[in-house]
Amino acid sequence: MPQLTIIFPEEFNCFKRHKNKGPEIIYPLERKTSIKHIIESLGVPHTEIGKIVGENKEVDFNYIPVNSQKITVLSIIPPFDVSRPSLLRPEPLQKIRFVVDVNVGKLALLLRMLGLDAEYSPKFSDKDILSLCKKEKRIVLSKDTGLLECKQIIFGRHVRSIYPDDQLIEIIKFFGINGPFNFFARCLRCNKKLVPISKKDILHRLEPKTKKYFNKFKICPQCRRIYWQGSHHEKMIIRLRKNGIYI
Ligand SMILES: [Zn+2]
Repeated sequence: MPQLTIIFPEEFNCFKRHKNKGPEIIYPLERKTSIKHIIESLGVPHTEIGKIVGENKEVDFNYIPVNSQKITVLSIIPPFDVSRPSLLRPEPLQKIRFVVDVNVGKLALLLRMLGLDAEYSPKFSDKDILSLCKKEKRIVLSKDTGLLECKQIIFGRHVRSIYPDDQLIEIIKFFGINGPFNFFARCLRCNKKLVPISKKDILHRLEPKTKKYFNKFKICPQCRRIYWQGSHHEKMIIRLRKNGIYI
């Protein structure tokens, strides 16, 4: 039977179906099919791939391999600049905006805390995520390889870290996002941009201590939640600095 040799980087060992198969995989070519389909049948979503090289030439996801070819698959080398076109992703993004899957939901709140645009709802279905990704050109963050294999997703990331704080550092570093961050810009509950509000208009809603120590306030135009620059950001700032991230 015709066959291919596919070489994967060690980084892809985290993907189940590919695990224990070693870096060099002999793949039986049963029918004419795209390299995207072949790679994904080995458990690696296309969102994780930086380059595909066949016969010393870079190829795209639609490339149809032939018998006895050697194909090298490379991961994305961070920082991943989504604003630059590449062979695999010829249409770059103008802005970094995310849509976050329920399996990494807490990450959405941390991204919002930095002022980054991260759409998320615990009620999101795969269909909702795909629609936001396509309509608003958002980067999908998920741990679901099945979702990341969907062709509607051009930019995405299989989040590797387990804990939300580590996931935040992973995503910031992977996409090369640097400060200055606006810690006081977005509603943590609904992702809407906050608007300034005068203290006298919300005085009746403030706790005595908040009333005493804080003077600058913002409000979410959607859920009317009130925000002020409190100490809850300090821990995060320390953590980001520790990880060499410019804030
Ligand atoms: Zn809100």
